[in-house]
Amino acid sequence: MTDFQIPFRGAHNPSSTDAGTTPGSFANAADIGGPRTFSSPDTPGMPQPSDKTAWDFMPDDWTFSDGRWFAPDGFKPVTQLDHARLGIVTPAMKRVAEREKHLTPEQVRGEVAAGRMIIPANLVHLGYELDPMCIGRAGLTKINANMGASPVSSGTDEEVEKLKWAERWGADTVMDLSTGGDLDATREAILRNARVPIGTVPIYSMIIGRSIEDLTIDVILETLRHQAEQGVDYFTIHAGVARAHLPFIRQRLIGIVSRGGSLLAKWMLHHGQENPMYTHFEAICNVMREYDVSFSLGDGLRPGGLADATDAAQLGELDRLAELTERAWKKGCQVMVEGPGHVPLDQIEYNMKLQRRLCHGAPFYVLGPLVTDVFPGYDHITSAIGATSAGFHGAAMLCYVTPKEHLGLPKKDDVKQGCIAYKIAAHAADVALGIPGARDWDDDLTRARAALNWDKHFELAFDTDTARALHDEDLDVDTDFCAMCGHDWCSVRISKEIVEFESGKAEGFERERVVKSPALTPEQQEVLRSRGNLAPEDIHRLAGKTREAVSGSSKASCHSDIVRDEGEAFRVQSEKLLVLRRKGKQGARPR
Ligand code: SF4
Repeated sequence: MTDFQIPFRGAHNPSSTDAGTTPGSFANAADIGGPRTFSSPDTPGMPQPSDKTAWDFMPDDWTFSDGRWFAPDGFKPVTQLDHARLGIVTPAMKRVAEREKHLTPEQVRGEVAAGRMIIPANLVHLGYELDPMCIGRAGLTKINANMGASPVSSGTDEEVEKLKWAERWGADTVMDLSTGGDLDATREAILRNARVPIGTVPIYSMIIGRSIEDLTIDVILETLRHQAEQGVDYFTIHAGVARAHLPFIRQRLIGIVSRGGSLLAKWMLHHGQENPMYTHFEAICNVMREYDVSFSLGDGLRPGGLADATDAAQLGELDRLAELTERAWKKGCQVMVEGPGHVPLDQIEYNMKLQRRLCHGAPFYVLGPLVTDVFPGYDHITSAIGATSAGFHGAAMLCYVTPKEHLGLPKKDDVKQGCIAYKIAAHAADVALGIPGARDWDDDLTRARAALNWDKHFELAFDTDTARALHDEDLDVDTDFCAMCGHDWCSVRISKEIVEFESGKAEGFERERVVKSPALTPEQQEVLRSRGNLAPEDIHRLAGKTREAVSGSSKASCHSDIVRDEGEAFRVQSEKLLVLRRKGKQGARPR
């Protein structure tokens, strides 16, 4: 036995039943109510958390006595932050606690009051179908899906369909980034159909029909009010881009890659003035707090390539975003802060912990980050690697990247691929952080896998259709192994036989009774069609054959539960594989 001790630091075991042989997570002990909530151990040299919270940035007219804060006479709380500061647990906070099973409503209120959590819930959208959720490192890691019509592609119906598709694949919030088509109608349709919070970047609408140079504070406030009235839950406001940052851009490989950031930089250069969103920030707060629209303080100077990561422009803007966080809190507004972008893996922890320090724990909402620049077409993967690290080191929400990133407007399947990549990142971070119960799902699937219970395996898989179709592509019956290793080499089956020769299967499964597998669903057939490995007639057979093979009293020909011994199971299953392989070859399409 090794003498090395596992360096546990007190985090919860992410399994609520302490299942398995790994006793827990290596993360820090949970600190709900403190600055570290759920957090990773610090690599030496990392910035420590701030000793301030939103409680240190109260409105000037509030007073403190007898250990609590009092609002001025006649004050009516509007935002979730107002309520939390007054000790009021709102219905939205209760709903969040129902969804975040490890938190109580009072803990949710406490985190919102401290500014470490937001509940993006516009009062208008709450009147439609919004199901309140939270963004904050005390909660589970969230993912955002971007969509939106561009001047060259997509329309309102297609965007609503993409919204539903993103919700189906686990998006916790959706940003409508439309820059083309009927922006107003698209936004309205999305808001009326969305169960998740909707974010926008209002500057896109501000320049429809005018050039950026003609942008005025009146246009800014009018546009914000209109979208707030429609029910938008959070706005990306690029108020942190400053004139002082622009000289640093010259040294970059790829300049400014944020649309909002580049537009405002152009405005500042044209007018020789400071960013109007910064200058008039309090007026913007006044509009947003009226409907409880949350700030997503935009990172207009985020790096667009590894060579520009963590540079003076990016960090200068982050410093200003911290100042704006404090100013928004003073106005009673909820705030999260946006982050990069393209960041090498070794710099991610520093970026997360610097934001936590400067912005006093305000939720960090990061785009990726991509950890390499050379895989266009696969940036959902390059960025999910960075997003996993970002979530573990402190980001509260991960903005997805699809395979179309840098290449075009995502289509429906790109939305699915992006969502899945980011659900993986978010869930991996939650397990690693030791969030109570985060690993229960994994443990349930491991149990099904160990029992060779394919039905349960597929049911628990995040993408049931793909898991089932890929399994049936090679072997379309319920066996005690799969086609990856085959009967003789199936370690899971052998492992079970160390105890006794049985398949396990589902609870209540009766030996001698055939477990019927359903025919492939249309979705599962489509998965196989798009892979292009099987001929259409093979897919057709899989869609109907299973039903036929196990119908009536006949038994599935290679179900090892219903044969006498291991030897016979091996024989029938090998034969079955041989037949399938032969058929596969005959039906193979020319390449
Ligand atoms: S055949 Fe191999 S991959 Fe398939 S269940 Fe058995 S061990 Fe797992």
